Amino acid sequence: MKKEIPYKIYLSENELPKQWLNLRAFMNKKPAPLLNSDTLKPMTKEELSEIFCGELVQQELDETTPYIDIPEEIRQFYKMYRPAPLVRAYCLEKALKTPAKIYYKFEGNNTSGSHKLNSAIAQAYYAKKQGLKGVTTETGAGQWGTALSMACSYFGLDCKVYMVKCSYQQKPFRREVMRTYGANVTPSPSTTTNIGKKILQDFPGTTGSLGCAISEAVEVALSSEGYRYVLGSVFNQVLLHQSIIGLETKTALDKYSVKPDTIIACAGGGSNLGGLIAPFMAEKLQGKEHYQIIAVEPASCPSLTRGKYAYDFCDTGRVCPLAKMYTLGNSFIPSANHAGGLRYHGMATTLSELYYQGLMEARTVEQTEVFKAAEQFARVEGILPAPESSHAIRVAIDEALKCKETGEEKTILFGLTGTGYFDMLAYENFHDGKMINYLPTDADLQKGFAGIPNINL
Ligand SMILES: *Cc1c(COP(=O)(O)O)cnc(C)c1O
Repeated sequence: MKKEIPYKIYLSENELPKQWLNLRAFMNKKPAPLLNSDTLKPMTKEELSEIFCGELVQQELDETTPYIDIPEEIRQFYKMYRPAPLVRAYCLEKALKTPAKIYYKFEGNNTSGSHKLNSAIAQAYYAKKQGLKGVTTETGAGQWGTALSMACSYFGLDCKVYMVKCSYQQKPFRREVMRTYGANVTPSPSTTTNIGKKILQDFPGTTGSLGCAISEAVEVALSSEGYRYVLGSVFNQVLLHQSIIGLETKTALDKYSVKPDTIIACAGGGSNLGGLIAPFMAEKLQGKEHYQIIAVEPASCPSLTRGKYAYDFCDTGRVCPLAKMYTLGNSFIPSANHAGGLRYHGMATTLSELYYQGLMEARTVEQTEVFKAAEQFARVEGILPAPESSHAIRVAIDEALKCKETGEEKTILFGLTGTGYFDMLAYENFHDGKMINYLPTDADLQKGFAGIPNINL
């Protein structure tokens, strides 16, 4: 007899995964390596160790170990807010009158309000273990900076956050949460770095971008004794830590013998997507199961759907290594009225390669449709979702509505990456009818493509 599925599937503390899953180990054709932009040779361990913590470099370069132990100190921290619930969206199903079965994994149950804490605590742990004084980073919407501030205060590390200026101004409360956790927050571009000064000179009045904030954070890490740079998405190490999302989800679903047909996640740099799909994609790569996997990105920042698969800089300041990824060009900045997050110009190399191999799909959604879905979801499921997460909600609802037409009882799983309490200005614009959709033209995108270095390997 089939067990009845509860509204929330909770796991016990003992079921918290003991290892992360390294998806690259399951790929026959691996993603292309990071390149040194001067020599165009793969980045070595030594080169990467100037920027990143030693153990994180190890993880960054490891493409063969399928499972990597989660240190006990990190598991203890995880236990404060994990295992995260997997929710059967009975109320949403009912509201949509769909025969589809909808599940979501909720990652918003911590003060940072998102999944970012899963990697922040791991990165802070390794920095502490290495005896560092502190770390530097960038933050866009603020979730990553908040998560890292929390993680650093837990381990007694200094934390310097470069926050994209428009967010710094629009989200003063987010900034104060970071300061509550002891972080030092600087609006970017700033005059505290050479690259910041140069950007301010070249683009007076600019309200900043993620790429530019990354450049500043890297510059400070490289020039400060006892500091390293850490980052919240895009890199392999981050996808590795985020695999905890998918591993917990799979354990919970397996308990009830549920197999998702479609797995949906929003995609900025790709960390929650990479994390959620990890164990499912591993099965797919081994030919054990088939899953439809959909990455959802904003129509105003369409790296997978309209970008080029090429080596590009990870940052505007061109201080980071080159990564082969779907990219809109390192100078690409989404339109100022884009409110939904997911603003990064590229996509994690692993996901780029999986997409290139046809193992997952990508879709774009317009922001007014995203906020409609957010509101619909909030009203029936009780959680006020982050705009980023709402990209996934949009497509989950669209898929469920398709099932209503076809009568198909499909099982849909999506990642609810966080809550949207600090995004109420965007919600306000939506409610006031002031939110507009902006689609970059091919000519707009061409400007970004022109800045992609010409590397043919
Ligand atoms: C950062 C963030 C994202 C997007 O980042 P990915 O690395 O693509 O996962 C999505 N949702 C929330 C709530 C975030 O904070």
